Amino acid sequence: MADSLHTRYMTASDTWRVHRKSCPPCQNGRHCEDGEPLHERFVRLQSAYLNHLRNR
Ligand SMILES: [Zn+2]
Repeated sequence: MADSLHTRYMTASDTWRVHRKSCPPCQNGRHCEDGEPLHERFVRLQSAYLNHLRNR
């Protein structure tokens, strides 16, 4: 279970980072239409994962 959350977090993180690398608006914190959901997913999974570590 922990692994699958971690995997999803890593995948979301990679997807977001790859997108941001080639997207100037997202680099400047002005998320584009494609970047916004990727960033949201990354933030959501990051806090879920950190929460999981804290409550372990
Ligand atoms: Zn973007």
